[in-house]
Amino acid sequence: MADVVPKPHTPAQGVAAQTQDDLTPMALALHAASEAAARGEVPVGAVVTDAAGAILAIAGNRTEADCDASAHAELLALRAAAAARGSPRLENCDLWVTLEPCPMCATAAALFRVRRVLFGAYDPKGGGVEHGPRIFAATLNLQRPEVVGGLREREAAALLRDFFGKRR
Ligand code: ZN
Repeated sequence: MADVVPKPHTPAQGVAAQTQDDLTPMALALHAASEAAARGEVPVGAVVTDAAGAILAIAGNRTEADCDASAHAELLALRAAAAARGSPRLENCDLWVTLEPCPMCATAAALFRVRRVLFGAYDPKGGGVEHGPRIFAATLNLQRPEVVGGLREREAAALLRDFFGKRR
């Protein structure tokens, strides 16, 4: 919850405008999620930063576009960041994502050896970090990233809620 900056908040439709001048990693992830929604993808966005906080990769979900059920934002961003770095290991890098990663992406984050996973909305149904198999808590022989949940949670959740048409 370290760098949550409270701002006047307009759910969902305000996200793009609100974040356009905000270049923090979570803002960029929210923007990528917004763009994914515009393409008909589930609005999840992910960013990987290096130890100095520089952006290595930004991705939104591409499962529909790529006909690939595993083309989750996190996996795409991790792969792109690793390619950019020329190494399969992302030590001292952070994964920022608008939604709690699923078990596949949580496992991938551990395999890529990221330092921290920072996410927005919690996902009681599909999440694998704080819910379900709680991948990082399991006694696997994996690196366990530090986890920070709930960053700009309302904005991230609003994007998803709007996409799935559950607006009240
Ligand atoms: Zn995933």
